[in-house]
Amino acid sequence: MLSRKITDGTEFVVFDMEWNQALPGKRYGFEVSELTGEIIEVGAVKYVYDNGQLIRKGTFSEDVRPVMYTKLHYHVKKVTNKTNKDLEKGRPFAEVYKDFVRFSGRDAILVGWGTSDPAMLKMNLKFFDMDSTLGVDFLDLQPIFSLFSGQVGKQKSVEAAVDFYNIPKNDIFHSATSDAHYTGEIFEQIFRHNKPSEVISAISSSSVNPDIQREFGFIGRDCNDVTSAFGEVKGFVGRCPVCGRRFGIRIAPFRIRKSLYALYYCEEHGEMFSRTRLKKRKDKKLYVTSVLRFATQNDYYLVASKKEEFDKFGESGAPVEPQETDNSQTEG
Ligand SMILES: [Zn+2]
Repeated sequence: MLSRKITDGTEFVVFDMEWNQALPGKRYGFEVSELTGEIIEVGAVKYVYDNGQLIRKGTFSEDVRPVMYTKLHYHVKKVTNKTNKDLEKGRPFAEVYKDFVRFSGRDAILVGWGTSDPAMLKMNLKFFDMDSTLGVDFLDLQPIFSLFSGQVGKQKSVEAAVDFYNIPKNDIFHSATSDAHYTGEIFEQIFRHNKPSEVISAISSSSVNPDIQREFGFIGRDCNDVTSAFGEVKGFVGRCPVCGRRFGIRIAPFRIRKSLYALYYCEEHGEMFSRTRLKKRKDKKLYVTSVLRFATQNDYYLVASKKEEFDKFGESGAPVEPQETDNSQTEG
């Protein structure tokens, strides 16, 4: 994968956004799936890395006035504690985004909790006919936190991470500005509690280009038996979906219960994780769904632990606890 060099002076912009949604049942004069959320708040904290620690350099906090979803969805209202009146106080999205880009600079690494914020930002830029290329690297801090808190593979909320490091909760959660501050403090704590060289190594290998598609899906045709259903995926997982090069194999495909796992390698694009799941239709026909994506820390952990399970127990996998039997049949 592209490995982003991090040195003294590298800047990080930890950011968070809130967005409003379409009201259920209401008709809009555009395709709602092209704007699943309209940004209403952007918060960010800028840091510069210096000699093993993060130095806070500035903050950004702006409300955006929505023009498509002008009435708060009840769920957004509940979570953010905003009112319809608050929305009117915001500035136009184009202005706020311009200021945000100026605040961030063109060299900083954007940092978020989860991958939904950069995706939503790009969706809004595209919807409003602005240049949707972010042009900077992005780091998802959530798996980095999981890695350094010994909870690899688990997805934790910002609040859970705040609790983990005993960060004082002086502010509400789910405002973009306070969530960006909390996420920034988690980032600071990760450096404080671990060897900076190890943190640097993890974040430099996890920084990605948010402007390229990272995940690719495939659904096989309906088949009568398991072998042909799994056979459907051969063309999809044989070549890199970005450049078409034939994949090399890091971990050869192996099957546990209803899932097939593998780790492939493209000379140009690096390692890709693949999981193919066997599913059954109501008429008993079998088909597979498959996902291929740029491998993340969590994917390496997942495929390695599944491989360990496979080497020990074979295709049937580890014996399942009785109460989980039902679960294993659908998730395998
Ligand atoms: Zn490739």
